[in-house]
Parts: sequence; C-alpha cells; structure tokens
Amino acid sequence: MDTVLFLAHTEADGSLCRAALESLGAARALAAALPGSGFVAGLVGADVRAAADAIAGCGAARFLGVSGAPFAWSRYCTDVEASTALGRASGATIVVAPATSRWNRALAGAAHRLGGRIDAHATAIAAIDGSPAVTRWYYRQRLEAVVRRTARPWFILLDPGCGEPWAGPQGTAAIESIDAAPAAAPRTTVAGVRSPPADQQTIRPDAKLLFVAGAGWTKAQPDGKTHGSEAEALILDFLRRTKASLGSTKSLVDQSGEGQPVLGFMTHLNQVGQTGSTPRHAKGLATCCHGEEPHTVGWRFVTARRAVNLNPNCGWAQGKADVLYVADAFAVMRELDALLGERAPAPKP
Ligand SMILES: Cc1cc2nc3c(=O)[nH]c(=O)nc-3n(C[C@H](O)[C@H](O)[C@H](O)COP(=O)(O)OP(=O)(O)OC[C@H]3O[C@@H](n4cnc5c(N)ncnc54)[C@H](O)[C@@H]3O)c2cc1C
Repeated sequence: MDTVLFLAHTEADGSLCRAALESLGAARALAAALPGSGFVAGLVGADVRAAADAIAGCGAARFLGVSGAPFAWSRYCTDVEASTALGRASGATIVVAPATSRWNRALAGAAHRLGGRIDAHATAIAAIDGSPAVTRWYYRQRLEAVVRRTARPWFILLDPGCGEPWAGPQGTAAIESIDAAPAAAPRTTVAGVRSPPADQQTIRPDAKLLFVAGAGWTKAQPDGKTHGSEAEALILDFLRRTKASLGSTKSLVDQSGEGQPVLGFMTHLNQVGQTGSTPRHAKGLATCCHGEEPHTVGWRFVTARRAVNLNPNCGWAQGKADVLYVADAFAVMRELDALLGERAPAPKP
C-alpha cells in the first residue's frame, strides 16, 4: 500500500505558489487512484499555518509542517533536512512535489538520504494497473515515455503548467510539527534576495503570453539600416506593460558571439526550441522569426500561436501559427505599445 506525500514549500508571504497547487491536485488524484493508499501533506517554511489552512480541505489525512526562520529561504542544507524529515515522518512511498527552483535543487538529496529515487520534469502522474506511473519527455521533447519504478520512496518533481491547480475549501488544519533542525549551524547564511526589475527579469514561466523575438529584429530593414535600439525599446516597453515572458531564437542569441548587433537584455537562457527551452504559456506571439525549431519544438506546448513576419512565404510561421500577420513587426509593435499605453501608463522601471 502506498502513502502519497504532497511536499511543498511556502513563498515569502506564506502562501503556496500555483505550481505547488498543481502538484497538490496531481498528488490527490494519484492517491485516489491507488487502492488503499494514504494521502499526507508536508509543508516547509518560516510559518506554514496560512498555507496549511489554505489547503485544509484537500483531503490529506495528516498535515506535517517543518517551520522556523531557518526554513524561510531556499537553501540546500536546510531544505534537504526538512524534506528528508517529512519523507521519514510521513512514511511516504511516493512524494509529489512542484518543480520549483528551490525543490529542483534539494529533493534529489532527500531522495538519496531516504534510499529512494527521484524523477524530474514529470508532465503527468497516473495510476496504471494499481501502481504509479510518470509521463515525461526525452530527447528535447521529441519522445514521450511513461516510466514506472519499483524503488521507494519515489520522489516526483512535476513541471509547472502541466495540470489544474487544486482549488477547494479552506479551514483550520491540525498541523503536526516535525523537527528538522540541522545537526550543525548552516554554513550558508542567507542575506536576502535580490531580484532584477521587471524589465530585466524577462523569463516569466507564470506569464500568460510568451513573446518570441527572432533575428529579424536586428537585420537591415527596408531602409537598408538596422534599428537595434528601437527594437530594444519596443520589446522592453511591451514586456513592461504586459509582463509577458521573453523567448528568443537561437540565431538571435548566438549573434552576440559573432560580433553582430544584439538586443542587450537577451541571453541564451531566453532561447526556445530544440536546444533551448520548451515553455508552457497559454499564448505565443513570434515576431521576426523564421526558424523551424522555435516554431515547432519551442512552441510545442503553447496552445494559441500567432506570428508577425514580413515574409508571406515563411513556411514555419504559416505551418505552425494559428494566425500569421504579414506585416512589419516594428510597425505592429509601435501600434501595440501605443494601444497598451492608452490603457495604462508604463510602470516605472
Ligand atoms: C541542431 C540544431 C538545433 C537548433 N536549435 C534551435 C533552437 O533550439 N532554437 C532556435 O530558435 N533555433 C534553433 N536552430 C536554428 C534554427 O534552425 C534557425 O536557424 C533559427 O531559429 C532561425 O532564427 P530566426 O528565425 O531568428 O532568424 P532568421 O531565419 O534570420 O529569420 C528572421 C526572420 O525575420 C523576418 N523579418 C525581418 N525583418 C522583419 C520585420 N521588420 N518584421 C517582421 N519580420 C521581419 C524575416 O522575414 C525572417 O523570416 C537549430 C539549428 C540546428 C541545426
């Protein structure tokens, strides 16, 4: 008989992020589908009361909490102690956790300490013939496999955006406090968190829209000149106003190494596609972008897709976008930014 542990950490304000609620939905469904299994919730944070109460109606038989100032921040040594202690106290055979950057760093250590195994980048969890099975992609999202394991405990990190977040009644959870104090004082002291302003932090997995920029933004335009500075201003203005996430083609991010004009805020982390990332935003808008990889692999999980390209014969945009606007992206974005500006003044950087 399995015991499914939903394992999450709180955010700075004590709440659970969307990815955590998605994992909660998946963990609950798995426990319900495994005959005779138990379902336990385990939370880590400075104070887990608000998070536990927010999910009090999720059906967990127990609510375990590791709390205290040392667990407020993402830090490997305290996170691995906390998650190991929760795994042990719950007797979990299956641990379902959101693939946040914090858990991605720490949970492999907890799985190792408990003598278990871990799988990351799961996109779905189900029960097949009475045992858990995880769906994940291989070879840059080209092959999808269903994986089963006999080793326990089995930690599963569920990628964000792969399921519906749990929503249900709040209440007052009876929290069992679990002691996970590290044996020695942590060597790493967290001084605080510094995050870049909204227009510099351009990768936003939670955004509704993925805006993909291609190399065309830096190429000579019909007047024979390049317009890199205007391209930067138009794109940044759009991102500031919409809080969209920024993707790039490989050609555009590779240009910096070739000494060609570049968009200063773009890095290889923005690249989508076969050798980049495969984001899961609800909508995608590709501009000045021709390549196969951004339109096929990079957009694989984006459901509503539109493209702006000067070239009516751009085969990939035609084949993979739901709507292709044959237009000058500079003109389109100028107009779009102006319309967005009429709706709301640009936030200060
Ligand atoms: C093994 C391998 C892996 C790869 N992996 C990736 C990957 O992960 N991601 C990736 O992106 N690429 C990848 N590539 C490269 C990919 O095949 C393409 O070469 C690349 O994506 C093309 O980039 P682009 O569309 O930005 O540039 P271009 O092909 O140069 O296209 C620029 C486009 O901009 C348009 N344009 C220009 N000016 C305007 C304007 N004013 N308004 C509107 N449109 C305009 C042009 O019409 C053109 O269609 C890979 C290639 C290989 C071989």
